[in-house]
Amino acid sequence: MIRIASSLLARPMLFVLAGIGITLATTAVTVVSLYEMRLDAMAQARDAAENLVISLQKETERNLDIYQLAMHDVAMTIQTPSLSGLSPETRQLIAFSTISNAKEPGVLFATDAAGTIVFGSRSLDSLKPNVSERDYFQIQRQQKHAGLFLSEPFLSHTSDPPQPEIALSRRLDDGNGQFAGIVAGTLRLNYFRHLFEGSILGRHGTITLLRTDGTVLMRYPFHAGDIGSSLAKGHSLDPLVQSDHGTYIDIAVLDHVERLYSFRRIGSYPLIVVVGLATGDIYAGWRKRAMAIGAVTVILDAFFISLSLMFARQLRKRLAMECQLRQLAWFDSLTGLPNRALLQRESLRVLTNHSRDAASFATLFIDLDRFKRVNDTQGHAVGDEVLSEIGRRLREHVQADDVIGRLGGDEFLAILQRSDVLKATQIAGRILNDVYRPIVINSKHDTGITISASIGIAIYPHDGQDTDALLRNADLAMYQAKSAGRNQVRFYAPEYERQAKEHLELEIALQRALRSNALSVAYQPKVDAAGILRGAEALARWHSDKHGQVAPDRFIAIAEESGLIAEMDAWVMGEACRQLAEWRAAGVIVPNLSVNVCAADFRRPDYPEFVARTLLAHGLTPEDLTLEMTERVLFDESAEDVRKSLDAVHALGVAFSIDDFGTGYSSLSYLRRFAVKELKIDKSFVQGIGGDAKAESLAQTLINIGDVLKLTVTAEGVETAAQRDFLGQHGCHLYQGYLFSPPLPPADFRCWAETNAARAAHAQRSCASEPG
Ligand code: C2E
Ligand code: CA
Ligand code: CA
Repeated sequence: MIRIASSLLARPMLFVLAGIGITLATTAVTVVSLYEMRLDAMAQARDAAENLVISLQKETERNLDIYQLAMHDVAMTIQTPSLSGLSPETRQLIAFSTISNAKEPGVLFATDAAGTIVFGSRSLDSLKPNVSERDYFQIQRQQKHAGLFLSEPFLSHTSDPPQPEIALSRRLDDGNGQFAGIVAGTLRLNYFRHLFEGSILGRHGTITLLRTDGTVLMRYPFHAGDIGSSLAKGHSLDPLVQSDHGTYIDIAVLDHVERLYSFRRIGSYPLIVVVGLATGDIYAGWRKRAMAIGAVTVILDAFFISLSLMFARQLRKRLAMECQLRQLAWFDSLTGLPNRALLQRESLRVLTNHSRDAASFATLFIDLDRFKRVNDTQGHAVGDEVLSEIGRRLREHVQADDVIGRLGGDEFLAILQRSDVLKATQIAGRILNDVYRPIVINSKHDTGITISASIGIAIYPHDGQDTDALLRNADLAMYQAKSAGRNQVRFYAPEYERQAKEHLELEIALQRALRSNALSVAYQPKVDAAGILRGAEALARWHSDKHGQVAPDRFIAIAEESGLIAEMDAWVMGEACRQLAEWRAAGVIVPNLSVNVCAADFRRPDYPEFVARTLLAHGLTPEDLTLEMTERVLFDESAEDVRKSLDAVHALGVAFSIDDFGTGYSSLSYLRRFAVKELKIDKSFVQGIGGDAKAESLAQTLINIGDVLKLTVTAEGVETAAQRDFLGQHGCHLYQGYLFSPPLPPADFRCWAETNAARAAHAQRSCASEPG
């Protein structure tokens, strides 16, 4: 998996923003292009309208020019005296040949000053029509400089049915400059209608031809009523007359349709042609395209946004996974505290910081006391609950920049920044108190568990220059705290290191001694009230060439820690049985032998079989052997394999004795459960007799318990006759201690036993000889 967490790409929001950005950009581009397309559409329409107007204007102007020319021909024919002599047909030909080039011409004629037609393109002579009432006649008569005049539209009676026409007129003056009549030509407005009808205008386009005074001459689409109406009603005239051509947008008053209007004055004629294209039509194509493009854009935008959202979601998932992996790699899943790997990294960081500032900091090695027992007796689930609760409590004792983590098992590590001996002592003290508070176990119906911790402290730079040395030395100090009785704080001292080295050396030496049969067994007698030997306890002894006589408490502890204990106990049992068999063969009376055992022995799957085999090998019966064990072993009963072993050994008929009775749990139920045969009152109570009232009353209570349960009560460590007497008075059965004999090598024990037997025999004899 590629690590992306540290890069800029690790922000899912960035993808969402990028998605939105791209969407906005594409949308903006689309909007701008659509806007430009719209402008284009308008520009094209403008061009089209202008081109159309120009072509209409050209066409119309050309036609009107022909009219002018034709009218000029007529005027000339009338006014040129030399032509009056020609035949009427010839004059007719000269005067009216030009008009045949015009489109949709009506009639062409000249009048006299009274308005009577005197010369016409058709045979109007018979009608002798008079046009003096027409506006085009009157204007010419009244205004000398009217020039070319365009009439209002009127219905022509020369055609059938009558058609709308306009007339163009021009004034004729006589030689004195007096009004002599007019020359005029009529033009069928149908001409414009046909002209306009061929144009492409869209659904709501219009073409209007009007006089400069606003009179509509023709309008397309065609409505007969429009002809002759005034524009002022529907359209403002102002822009049309202010210049001779132009284009503008306006809303028509008539139909409220917005149009682009393009107009042009037709040559020098008082006529304007106006083309109107509805903006709705102009934009129709554009609108269709815009809708399509818009739809595509919306789809693309939605696609982009959902793509970026999808990507962001994907990324977020992946980041969460990475975070989880990191959590797994660096944090302990049970307590949520930094794990060993992270602790190492953090220690290094703290070390670097402090070495730069030459400041001191404290490394605290925190180890729970007898945690294993919680695990073994209460189960792992409870053990886990205890650990996580302890983790939670520990966290509360360190500051934000300090470090607290779990090294593994029941070991925790705290690093206190800028901390000296005093501060470390205070915090370690608080931790001990807090750990010791009862822990409520939810899964066990709110039962409370009390556990203590041992803390070892190493201070930088005094106790170590690097993280490894600090950790090692804090660990050593922690061991000292354990050796000193647990639930304590110890600072590292170089002395500890020496001791630790020795510990390791001893472990190796012990292993060697065990394998080379260099251990021995001492035997301590157990006697009854009369001092007669009732049994003996086998106690392991080790004399090392290098370390001299090593105290059993010491090497037994080492054997336990290093896992040698089961092997050692097996050896002691074998040796003790062999010895007992040897003594019996030699006639030495030893009623019973006790050997010390521990939980590790019972964990051997073949232990019961081993015990049976050993007894058999030396010709002994199960009644010859007693197994001394502390209450702890029986408490381990919850561990299935230990319980099975205990039952199997018990089934052989081997007796169990509770060693150090009174120092442990002293629960009576398990004493019944395993049919224990003997209680050994711990020497701490025995030695209190004669001085310590509390020890005395406890010893008494313990004897009572044995009494109630009908067990043999044996007192250990009896050193004085007073102790023996006190114990005897309260019902103790057997005694063991220096008062009778220390543990002895086999040969010495044999002597002691023989002397004891002789004394017993003597005592019996004297008893018997005494008069009853
Ligand atoms: P323990 O089973 O309580 O053994 C009795 C201890 O009390 C022995 O110490 C013995 O020497 C000592 N003792 C006897 N009489 C007196 C007395 O009058 N005054 C005083 N102050 N002490 C007395 P030892 O031999 O040092 O053994 C220490 C412990 O080592 C034993 O305590 C036993 O728990 C353990 N141990 C010894 N041998 C073995 C062994 O083979 N296997 C196992 N698992 N443990 C053993
Ligand atoms: Ca013992
Ligand atoms: Ca004991």
